[in-house]
Amino acid sequence: MKQSMTFIPTLRAVPSDAEIKSHQLLLRAGFIKQIASGIYSYLPLAKRALDNIENIVREEMEKAGAAELLLPALQPAELWQESGRWHTYGDELMRLHDRHDRHFALGPTHEEVITSIVKDAVQSYKRLPLTLFQIQTKYRDEKRPRFGLLRGREFIMKDAYSFHTSHESLDEVYQKMHVAYTNIFKRCGLNFRSVLADSGAIGGKDTQEFMVLSEIGEDTIAYSDQSDYAANIEMADVCQVYEKPDVAEKELKKIKTPGQKTIVDVSEFLSVKPSEVIKSLVMLADEEPVMVLVRGDHEVNDIKVKNALNAKMVEFAEEEKTKELLKCSFGSIGPIQIPSEMKIIADHAVGAMVNAVCGANEDEHHYINVVPGRDFAVDEYADLRFIQEGDPSPDGKGTIRFARGIEVGHIFKLGTKYSEAMSAGFLDENGKPHPYIMGCYGIGVSRTLTAVAEQFNDERGLIWPVNIAPYDVHLIPINMKDSEQASCAEQLYDELQAEYDVLFDDRNERAGVKFNDSDLIGLPVRVTVGKRASEGIVEVKVRKTGEMLEVHRGDLSATLQ
Ligand code: ATP
Ligand code: MG
Ligand code: MG
Ligand code: MG
Repeated sequence: MKQSMTFIPTLRAVPSDAEIKSHQLLLRAGFIKQIASGIYSYLPLAKRALDNIENIVREEMEKAGAAELLLPALQPAELWQESGRWHTYGDELMRLHDRHDRHFALGPTHEEVITSIVKDAVQSYKRLPLTLFQIQTKYRDEKRPRFGLLRGREFIMKDAYSFHTSHESLDEVYQKMHVAYTNIFKRCGLNFRSVLADSGAIGGKDTQEFMVLSEIGEDTIAYSDQSDYAANIEMADVCQVYEKPDVAEKELKKIKTPGQKTIVDVSEFLSVKPSEVIKSLVMLADEEPVMVLVRGDHEVNDIKVKNALNAKMVEFAEEEKTKELLKCSFGSIGPIQIPSEMKIIADHAVGAMVNAVCGANEDEHHYINVVPGRDFAVDEYADLRFIQEGDPSPDGKGTIRFARGIEVGHIFKLGTKYSEAMSAGFLDENGKPHPYIMGCYGIGVSRTLTAVAEQFNDERGLIWPVNIAPYDVHLIPINMKDSEQASCAEQLYDELQAEYDVLFDDRNERAGVKFNDSDLIGLPVRVTVGKRASEGIVEVKVRKTGEMLEVHRGDLSATLQ
């Protein structure tokens, strides 16, 4: 591509609102342009880099047995009502309506759409397992869009969904996805770790995040310095403890504050209206780890109650009822006294207790936490404390260290959460119906681009790994007005294109401008055509190492190998 014909609006000044390196550099190097908060245009260089990431993702997904499709971004509200998420997803869901006043959402994720499609087409166990993926623009009205493409309100995600007849089959595909994700992020050149993610009731091994290690990451990872143990310690950024103000009210109140994770004290209600409580908790827990606090002696160890939560039996699709449950208020936020005897109704209940014990009495409910039971023992509530650097690793091997991470991927065993809610399933060998057992697997494609930019740069600009670079070679004649240089460069451009993607700086700019832009853009190799063009000598410079050598143009292709 000739630089005079493409669009690379580089900037001299560091944009004032860009806080992190990758955001600054992607703006300065003319990769992206903001149009509104959290909404960006991908200019030609970014488009090419994104295509490279997407192609890596495609190859690895297909290798893992997933087939690509493309689902609509615009989704009817009815689907979200069916799953219960129309009410539980909160303000992050971009909602709109058409001219007939029908309601829609711009998809932040696609469990509902994919489940509805597969449900209509796949009824027999013989057609399963099935894994489908797409690479698509997603919409989330993030409370704090920031860091450029890192947390956008419109962003590109690869999302995959798998459908199974058994948990063993799900385990198998989940493992394949783990391998695929590892390959993808390796091929992107990233320094990353897969970590156990906070999974609420489902259990840490059933959901993992892929974290790029970076100072600017929004998550904290606790990892062992001597084993593979690594976990996201974010269990609750901000917790609020809701306490029932009046037992007589016997109703759940506003349980969820958008953007915040919530502890729900259900002590009294469990004895009065256990089924109602469970229904609304199950619904909430679909979206985020709702931490359930149970005080006193209730029938909460009841196997039925436990199963209901764990299996997430959502039997209440009727919308009116759901609404009612969510509308009623649960009470004021306030200090809470924890008696020693407590019972647990779900794994995340433990989290609630930990938080409550460890500091929910304080005014500001900020917690950085681990998943209890996984990260430390929970039998002695009194001894609970947050995991800290220097602690022994939970697997007994080595010592805990902390690092910051950027979540670039997330794999998750969903189980029957959506298939049950949406009555989607298959008939087994005996003609007996079952809900699909599902998994979902996401990668932030545009976020990955930022993560690469964040990991690979220096004071002069970006340094793209070969696999992601928008072009392989930056071909720069120092003086386009010098006919010898110009014709040498033109010829090299033709020759090199047979093997490489070449960006040819054919602009009539000063050499200094061209070199600055070139360093900023950060293609792996620069080929400079200067004074010695007449002798057939050009200069090759490696962006990453700064290594420079003079090469005869006849040997150029071999040198670039
Ligand atoms: P986060 O914790 O950063 O908000 P998430 O857990 O909400 O992310 P998922 O629902 O797991 O995100 O989505 C799958 C992937 O999509 C994430 O791992 C991340 O890489 C990417 N992603 C999520 N939200 C955004 C966003 N606002 N901008 C860019 N990428 C995003
Ligand atoms: Mg999020
Ligand atoms: Mg997350
Ligand atoms: Mg996630």
